[in-house]
Amino acid sequence: MAMELGPGIPRRCQCGAMTIALTSKTRENPGRKFYRCGVVFGENHVFKWADDAIIEEIEVITGKLAAMEEVMIGMKEEITDLKKDML
Ligand SMILES: [Zn+2]
Repeated sequence: MAMELGPGIPRRCQCGAMTIALTSKTRENPGRKFYRCGVVFGENHVFKWADDAIIEEIEVITGKLAAMEEVMIGMKEEITDLKKDML
């Protein structure tokens, strides 16, 4: 069964447990940080390298920020219009 994980830093595992951040000590990936399920280390539980997760997280945040900027521009325009109506 494939895990349905959203992009970015995984905060919760599919099983409901919070994730934990750890550092790899394997010969293949020494010192590489990762997130995994805080309860079970195994199939169907979250495992994600932190470098991948953080790059995705930045992309998610950048998208949210752009959407917020759009909203703020709209609000600013509304305030300008409201001020005009008050004069
Ligand atoms: Zn889990």
